[in-house]
This record gives sequence, C-alpha cells and structure tokens, in this order.
Amino acid sequence: MNYQVDEKGFYGEFGGAFIPEMLYPNIEELRLNYLKITAEPSFKKEFMELLVDYVGRPTPLYFAKRLSEKYNTKIYLKREDLCHTGAHKINNTIGQILIAKRLGKTRIIAETGAGQHGVATATVCALMGLECVIYMGEVDIKRQAPNVARMKMLGTEVRPATSGSKTLNDATNEAIRDWINNPENTYYIIGSVVGPHPYPDMVARFQAVISEEIKAQLEEKERTEFPNYVIACVGGGSNAAGAFYHFLDDENVKLIAVEAAGKGVDSGESAATSILGKIGIIHGSKTLLMQSNDGQITEPYSISAGLDYPGVGPLHSHLHQTKRAEFIAITDDEAMQSGWEVSQTEGIIPAIETAHAFSVLDKKQFKPSDIVVINLSGRGDKDLTTYIDYFKL
Ligand SMILES: *Cc1c(COP(=O)(O)O)cnc(C)c1O
Repeated sequence: MNYQVDEKGFYGEFGGAFIPEMLYPNIEELRLNYLKITAEPSFKKEFMELLVDYVGRPTPLYFAKRLSEKYNTKIYLKREDLCHTGAHKINNTIGQILIAKRLGKTRIIAETGAGQHGVATATVCALMGLECVIYMGEVDIKRQAPNVARMKMLGTEVRPATSGSKTLNDATNEAIRDWINNPENTYYIIGSVVGPHPYPDMVARFQAVISEEIKAQLEEKERTEFPNYVIACVGGGSNAAGAFYHFLDDENVKLIAVEAAGKGVDSGESAATSILGKIGIIHGSKTLLMQSNDGQITEPYSISAGLDYPGVGPLHSHLHQTKRAEFIAITDDEAMQSGWEVSQTEGIIPAIETAHAFSVLDKKQFKPSDIVVINLSGRGDKDLTTYIDYFKL
C-alpha cells in the first residue's frame, strides 16, 4: 500500500486539483516548482535555520510521567505547543513563504476561520517584510477579536468576507477571487493539508519535521525509532500528517486520527468528517466531506474552532479508506474533561483541539510496554475564555 501522493496528485481516489480554469496558471507554477525549490540546499538551510532559531525547534518529546502512571502505559508528548505562536501551524507558513519568495512573489494572501492560520501567516509576512491580506468571514472577525488584533499588530490587513454564512467557506472564496485577479505578484498560503494538489503534499512535507524529530528523540530515549501508537487530532489534518508522515510505511506503528464529534456524532452538530462524510469536492480537492443528500456542504460544529472544518485532507481520506489509520470521534464534553486532566496532571494547558487527542486514553486500552506518542499540537492560552465558561472558573 502506498500512502504518498501520486504524479497526478492523488492519494488513492482522493485529492487532485479541481480548480477553475483561471486558477490553473498559479497552481501549475507551484506544482512544477515546489519539489525543485524545496530540494535546493539554500532552501533547506534557510528553512532549518528559521525552524531552529525562530520557531524554537526541535520541540521536546516529553515523557509524561504522571499521565503514564495513570493510564499504565508509556506516554510521550510532542510539544508543538512550544513553537513560536503556540502551535504547529508556523512550520508550514515558514515553508510556504520561502517558496513564495523563490517564486518572486511580493504579496501574500490567506484565509482563516478561527484566526490561527491567519496569525501564523501574518507572523511570517512580518518576518519577511511582505505585504499580507487575510480574508476572514465577518462573523468570525467578531468571534475571534484577539486574533484579528494580533494580525493587525503584525501589519496585516484583515478583509471581511461578507457573503453567504460569512465564515470560513466565504473567506476561501474571496481569497481565490483575489488570487485569480493577482496571479503575477501574489502567493496563496493554505493552512492545512487541504486544497488542490500540490498543497496537501507540500504542507505534509513541511509538517513532517514533527515525525522526523520524534524518530530521533525516541531513538535516544527508548532505543527505538518506532512508537506503538501515534495519536493526533484532525481538523484539516496538518498536525496529524506531520506526526504520521515518517511512520506511514511502518504498519507496526498504529496511527490514530481524532476528530471532533461536537455534541455527538448523530446530533447534527459535529465535525466528525470521516464518519459522516461522503466523497465530494471541497477547496479544489476530492475528499470526504460533510454534505447534505443534494451535495450542499453541511456547516460543521465543534467547541474547538480549529477542528470545525467540513472536510478532511485527501491523505486522511485515504488513510481512513485503507484503514491505515483508526479514526475516533470525541465529543466537546470528553475533550474538555481531557483538557482539564492534562492541565492538572502535567501542568500543561492544551489547546481544545489537542485535548480531543488526549481523550483517546479513555477510549482505548494500551499495554504497559506500549510507547504512545500524542502530538500536542498547540497551547490553550487562546482557549482560556472557553475553559473559563465551561468550568465556571
Ligand atoms: C489549527 C489547529 C489544529 C487543526 O488543524 P490541522 O491542520 O488538522 O492540524 C489542531 N490543533 C491546533 C492547536 C490548531 O491550531
């Protein structure tokens, strides 16, 4: 079984580039160049230096002693929460802005829902001195005021998307319109392993630094490069893709992808894409997505804004279909309890997205000798008001 993208941009039957004709030149320019550029020694050097000195990599692989005792297994946490800006997203935005520069682009656009990808993009634009426009639904701008302020502080223009439901999907449409109108000087940074080929593969490769480090760190701590389990939460799927990447071909390493069940898989308020989704096309890629019987995209729901996405990247659809990864859906309440537990047991307040991954510890039985790596995708500072409301702190 092959889990890498093929020449046409597919993972099994998923992926591809289903794009409007007018976007073709931009995507084709990227497709023809991304592997060449990322293989250049000068690119590798600049990427690695920024990951080390700016992001703070390698992030620790921390043996969670108290959590391990509690669940009677060996639990390691990959500390992406310690990355600059508080999550793994910066690994990808650094990679893509270096590509944009080498393609001669001077202007960056992106769309954002909760604002996390917007902040990661605004950050690298400030770092490189490039003009940056972030599209964001008008509703999301109101809901995510602190992230809007961060983007402005970083010198970015936040443009409201005022059509449709005024959320992520509409912001994406606006960003695509912008790119069609500015093909020469503009580069579109996508924030997860979604979108038309080559984005899912490119983003997975940038995030793959996570599993590359896990292997080296486990070798040092456990004298093996291979854990028994890798667990990660899935919104679009980028932190999971990065944590899984170098283990995909080792079937002894079991992969667990955790989706948001929201108020319950059957409640009508959920983001459990792989369970509820059917094959369709979203953001230029053929993948599993939540849709009504007549093919309208269903508005997803999760207490964590970062998992609140109606689709999942094509790699993950393939991992689901081939059963290479096990997909588990976790409710809001389960995730919040896990966020509480990790905070009290390890002194780490996780992002609510990440908290979903920890709930797997209550769902599955692990052996005492198992090495279980949980990708701690981000820190919980941004979620404090949600924690405060939920636990009445
Ligand atoms: C954005 C985000 C996610 C979900 O995005 P993926 O592309 O699925 O990784 C998960 N955790 C955190 C902390 C995030 O900010």
